[in-house]
Amino acid sequence: QANDAPQRTTTKTHCPYCSLQCGILLTAGGRPATLEPDPDFPTNRGGLCSKGWTAHELLDHPERLLTPLVRAVPGDRTSPLVPATWDEALDRVLAAITATQARHGRDAVGVFGGGGLTNEKAYALGKFARVALRTSAIDYNGRFCMSSAAAAMNRVFGVDRGLPFPLTDLAEADAIMISGGNPAATMPPAMQHFDAARSRGASLVVIDPRRTPTAAAAAAQGVHLAPVPGTDLPLLLGMLHLAVREGLVDRPYIDARTTGFDAAATAAAQWWPERVERTTGVPEGDLRRAVKLLAAASPARGGGGAIMLSGRGAEQHANGTDTVLAQANLALALGLPGRPRSGFGTVTGQGNGQGGREHGLKADQLPGYRSITDPAARAHVAGVWGVDPDVLPGPGRSAYEMLDALGGGESGTEPGVRTLLLLASNPVVSAPDAERVRRRLAALDHLVVVDFFLSETASLADVVLPTAQWAEEAGTMTNVEGRVILRRRALTPPDGVRDDLELLNALAHRLDLPEGLDADTAFPTEPEAVFTELRRASAGGRADYSGITYDRLEAEQGVFWPCPQQDGGAGGGEQHPGTPRLFAESFPTHDGRAQCAVVKYTPRAERTSRGASEEYPYVLTTGRTMAQYQSGTQTRRVRQLVMTDPDARAEVHPDLARRHGVSDGDLVRLTTRRGSALFRARVTRDVVAGTVFVPFHWGGMSVANALTDTRLDPVSRMPEFKACAVRLERHDPD
Ligand code: SF4
Repeated sequence: QANDAPQRTTTKTHCPYCSLQCGILLTAGGRPATLEPDPDFPTNRGGLCSKGWTAHELLDHPERLLTPLVRAVPGDRTSPLVPATWDEALDRVLAAITATQARHGRDAVGVFGGGGLTNEKAYALGKFARVALRTSAIDYNGRFCMSSAAAAMNRVFGVDRGLPFPLTDLAEADAIMISGGNPAATMPPAMQHFDAARSRGASLVVIDPRRTPTAAAAAAQGVHLAPVPGTDLPLLLGMLHLAVREGLVDRPYIDARTTGFDAAATAAAQWWPERVERTTGVPEGDLRRAVKLLAAASPARGGGGAIMLSGRGAEQHANGTDTVLAQANLALALGLPGRPRSGFGTVTGQGNGQGGREHGLKADQLPGYRSITDPAARAHVAGVWGVDPDVLPGPGRSAYEMLDALGGGESGTEPGVRTLLLLASNPVVSAPDAERVRRRLAALDHLVVVDFFLSETASLADVVLPTAQWAEEAGTMTNVEGRVILRRRALTPPDGVRDDLELLNALAHRLDLPEGLDADTAFPTEPEAVFTELRRASAGGRADYSGITYDRLEAEQGVFWPCPQQDGGAGGGEQHPGTPRLFAESFPTHDGRAQCAVVKYTPRAERTSRGASEEYPYVLTTGRTMAQYQSGTQTRRVRQLVMTDPDARAEVHPDLARRHGVSDGDLVRLTTRRGSALFRARVTRDVVAGTVFVPFHWGGMSVANALTDTRLDPVSRMPEFKACAVRLERHDPD
């Protein structure tokens, strides 16, 4: 009997959730699987958060989809979803694609991806859209995550790698500032690096309208700045102005390593401290203290180093790009980027949000982080793909713009996507003005969703295709540091489930590919074969992976890009060590210097009507909780996580609660110009009076994004997720 028992083996792999990509040791072979944190992986060093600790529960979850689903009556979404064979389901997908493109043109079929997809899947999906479907309509939910940071980093530094230094550098800094981030709740294992710095006496500066656990740590040893949501930009401009006015800037560094600093500083000069305080609510004394702490830690003033980080709270605004630019200007003023134990970085959210934008999931980008409008980039990628550059479509619409035009838009007559293939995303919960997005999805001729649970979006689909999960697939991910890591396959997927690469291969077999392309060669099912091609496509691009191989990733704790193949492909050229730290000598810009940007504050967030009609008198902001992740498709199904975070709680200041007769635990209805949603109140002084905070992980009656604003950043096309005008009422159920 004992000999028949499946052998249990332990595989080194990585958490399926956030961009820390914590190392995990997964033991499987005869389910259920169990897991332990990897003590050696540098980002988590033996730590995991509650999401990571319970990630194995997703694998055998009773609600897992194990067969394709199709509508009982084709084309009738009021009919139930019923099980189907893969052939039946794929035939329906093919019929939808063919009919839509014949009637409305190639761009009427769209692809929407997710930041949780491996590099191989992101790359293959971008290629599938442009070569097999020949549509320009592709984007991904990373547009809602990192796009403002990416646009600003590219503009200033010539390259966008979340952290241009290893996370472990935090432990060596004398001061750390984070704007709009709360790693103590969202990435708890990362706090060991912050804590190591603090235990040496380092200061923490946190910019956040809420007193989060991270902000509380700053208040105890540093300073917590709590601006009104939507005013991070004037706050940062005010910090730059103070640094200049008080003579705290690093003039030799500015002269040697930047372009355009004086114009940027002049533009910031109108943000004197009293004005900043009036606009943001941050006391002048706190502002001064924050600037002095950072300057004192800077190498120019003999400090051990200062690191500045930006997170989604500062970036998910219609002026998010300008806000990141303003913070980058401040970091440059203090002479931080490229210096030891110093720098400026942006903290990616999703597990592979970074890789998604490097390998062509964005509407305007090709692999290697190349622009789709650059003729040389098009020629290079087309050459790797074996097609004429003219085959490649031009840029498509950004994520929200694509979603808003689904089915011909509100009028039903605009050009837009009519058949959508959606993977690893749940926009009914995660997109702004979510009810409008639900209407647009319902207006599609055909919706195909690939997922492993029946998410809110999948439940609207014509066809649902069940996919493999994290531990059942090999592939690479690029974490918050730009470290490319190998997710190893520990289990085979259950019967009835197919990996996304197998799905794309099967669809490619059914579609007319450009002349000379063979489905199995163009869309291989083995991740390593995809990665080998991805390396060639990325060679010479901003995110160069050409010197990285699976063998290296097996042997090393990841490799930081850029990692070019040093002999140009002649063989044996994989010895480039990778680049853990960027910018030590120069920046990859036209003149080798960082490009300071002139940034002006134009309020773009919806104004409250306080003092006017009182219709929407408060400011709403949104964010995350510790035990839930993104739209909650996965974490709302894990028992321990639900016990920790059972429902969506609106944080309401006691003054506001009193005014509306609300007690802790009462239901409150929040209403904005777009819609309303119900939340249970958490009465707390952790939010400033006049601001209401809600988490965005829930569906049903508590979809936070039913409330959020759709105005877009003019550069990044990031929606205004983080600030809008809201009304609050106590809700008494009948
Ligand atoms: Fe997973 Fe992120 Fe938690 Fe680490 S911090 S265990 S990567 S969710």
